[in-house]
Amino acid sequence: MSSPYLISACTALAEELGLDPAELHTPGFAQWCMGHFELEGTQPVSALYSGHQFGHYNPQLGDGRALLLGEMMGPNGQHWELQLKGAGPTPYSRGADGRAVLRSSIREYLCSEAMHGLGIPTTRALALVGSDEEVYREQIETGATVMRVSPSFVRFGNFEIFYYRDQHAQLKQLADYVIDHDFTDLKDNAQPYHALLKTVVERTAALVAQWQLVGFAHGVLNSDNMSVLGLTLDYGPFGFLDQYNPGFICNHSDHHGRYAFDQQPSIGLWNCSCFAQALLPLLHEDGETAAAQARELLELYEPMLVKTFALGMRAKLGLVKEESVDQQLSSELLELMEKNKADYTNTFRQLSDITLNGDRGKARDSFVDREAFDVWTDKYRERLSLESRDDAARKQAMDAVNPKYVLRNYLAQTAIEKAQQKDFSMVNDLLTVLQSPFDEHPEFSAWAAEPPSWADEISVSCSS
Ligand code: AMP
Ligand code: MG
Repeated sequence: MSSPYLISACTALAEELGLDPAELHTPGFAQWCMGHFELEGTQPVSALYSGHQFGHYNPQLGDGRALLLGEMMGPNGQHWELQLKGAGPTPYSRGADGRAVLRSSIREYLCSEAMHGLGIPTTRALALVGSDEEVYREQIETGATVMRVSPSFVRFGNFEIFYYRDQHAQLKQLADYVIDHDFTDLKDNAQPYHALLKTVVERTAALVAQWQLVGFAHGVLNSDNMSVLGLTLDYGPFGFLDQYNPGFICNHSDHHGRYAFDQQPSIGLWNCSCFAQALLPLLHEDGETAAAQARELLELYEPMLVKTFALGMRAKLGLVKEESVDQQLSSELLELMEKNKADYTNTFRQLSDITLNGDRGKARDSFVDREAFDVWTDKYRERLSLESRDDAARKQAMDAVNPKYVLRNYLAQTAIEKAQQKDFSMVNDLLTVLQSPFDEHPEFSAWAAEPPSWADEISVSCSS
């Protein structure tokens, strides 16, 4: 796309990569991010993959609009891949334009860094670059690219394609590459492919638990959007919960709610079984033995998810000790939140105002049924009395795990509309706030507000 310009650069990531942030503001950098030239000694590639989309196997997908530009080593020896998304057709574009519109690029750019700020494993985003060239979707829009950064972009689907094509030599080569590259501690394992499956299952379970804790819905949990490293990957029609509604469907193309918020834990397992299936030829030469071994490893998913979720939920409630009532306490709170349409992020953030003997906290105001909330608060305080931290110490710890800011749809939408008018200030300010979402940022507190009524009209779908 012609005449590229930088919309936003992520200085923090540039520093992690050992790059000079000033370099990101040069015209040459914007051109590189629009795919105008290749760096000397590099050879961009797009990856081939397949995957299960909405439950059905699609035998050929691939990076239809992403190019792996190269790999680099960060200052601490960390290995990174740089991937350009949205710059135009690739061998796997399947007739589409290979581009991404400004709207979806802003969402991916901001959410990548927001998830990182929340402490959730994710691919990262180094820069957002725009062009005034037109891109055709339901309406005419302008195009933009995101420079994504990750230790690896390998997906479940990269394994699935070799399995379904009966290319077992390539399957083994890919597994060996991934182990060698990203799971070095598994290299000397007596059963490296079993260990790989175990790690992927456990990481995926832990990732999904973290999504549930923060109220994040991915929107398109197809197996080709699942990272083997257990990172959040491919930000499309994602959404954060506003009001607590477990059946929340963020993707308007998801008519049956396959990827609804409360379906994510089981979908994560479903996707892990797609991955396990693809690994079968490497697990054992006898198909039945391989399947039995895969099933055994898949059983690690649920306990890991439950454990991570329970641990995270206790931290959100400011509980250090483990007591048998904890699970009931959190379930009752969630039930009350659902009934009262309370805001997920704000309710948890405000729980830290509750003191053992005095304040009943701001969260109470969001509950129509105050009486029921007070009953819950009494139980909560009783439970708190078993803890040894004082109110102030507990508040500090709770505020470090319950974010004040998440990338609510209406915030992303407002930033997008401003950017479409060439005002990129909100994109950049949101980036700053979302990089440290647990801090107060008093000058931006308006962005912690519940959505305005027009936000109901926002529709996000796979088209981007
Ligand atoms: P997604 O729903 O973003 O995970 O994309 C599903 C598949 O469609 C992937 O193989 C993408 O690379 C491909 N794809 C999505 N948008 C485009 C586009 N504009 N041009 C080419 N391929 C695309
Ligand atoms: Mg995808």
